[in-house]
Amino acid sequence: MANIGFLGLGIMGTAMATNLVRAGFKVTVWNRTQEKCRPLAKLGANQADSPCEVASRSDITFAMLADPVAAKEVCFGEQGVIQGIREGGGYVDMSTVDDITARMINDAVCKAGGRFVEAPVSGTKKPAEDGTLIILAAGDHSLYEEAKPAFEVMGKMCPYLGDVGQAARMKLVVNMVMGGMMTTFCEGMALGRRGGLEGAQILEIIAASALANPMFAGKGALLLNKDFPASFPLKHMQKDLRLAVALGDQLGQPLPSAATSNETFKLAMKKGYADHDFAAVFNVID
Ligand code: NAP
Repeated sequence: MANIGFLGLGIMGTAMATNLVRAGFKVTVWNRTQEKCRPLAKLGANQADSPCEVASRSDITFAMLADPVAAKEVCFGEQGVIQGIREGGGYVDMSTVDDITARMINDAVCKAGGRFVEAPVSGTKKPAEDGTLIILAAGDHSLYEEAKPAFEVMGKMCPYLGDVGQAARMKLVVNMVMGGMMTTFCEGMALGRRGGLEGAQILEIIAASALANPMFAGKGALLLNKDFPASFPLKHMQKDLRLAVALGDQLGQPLPSAATSNETFKLAMKKGYADHDFAAVFNVID
């Protein structure tokens, strides 16, 4: 079995790396805040001091980092992945970034003699824990095939989308739709309750209608209780909307409702909800 590296042990990375260790992979982990490696080390993972060390020890290194800034720092920084990647070694970045960042990382990894796949995921903390993520992959096809056994532990499907950049674009499409759905859902709840309707009954009727979906079912209870423990941090949803709007600029595609949702999430960030679940955007709507 391949030696696996894992960089980034936040909400998602911790759950994904845990599943890889439990499935029997030999995993070496690194996280910027080193204490977060401890639970993985207890399960049997090795801990490294830098992304460079992880990449040099691993056949395939996976990363799950916050945003484009983090993805570039871990790749290009001092003691970064580029300095450690082996000839023919694999780097699979599962962070949600834009297509330009994904291509920049791909070019550098290839120039250093490695192979690259981008593989952002759809699905939040619970699917990450359950190993039921949807893994959107693009890039080097031989590495994609070699990474599949690990993808199959972390996810329920791993569609291949072609050239690097296409998985980033697909992921931004998914999250742009999700961000817009969330602000509309919150506005519906706020409007209904202001109009004298019961929150629980609003959710029950939506759930029975053609609008029913797992996100409304899962997040509805958070809106009723106004309690938003982070599963998908609001700051990351705002980042995804910002990147989707930028992609619209790049491609000349008007995105008026995504742009409006982005502004609402920016307001929620300003009001201090960055680290709450993205459903906390309700706090600036209700
Ligand atoms: P998170 O809990 O905020 O974790 C972010 C990770 O990135 C942490 O390991 C953090 O290290 C690291 N990081 C941040 N800035 C860094 C930097 N400059 N240099 C090195 N490391 C840095 O986020 P998450 O929820 O796991 O999400 C990770 C990625 O998956 C994001 O791109 C997000 O959009 C995407 N995603 C999330 C979900 C979800 O539901 N949560 C679902 C699908 C996709 P520290 O521990 O040191 O801060």
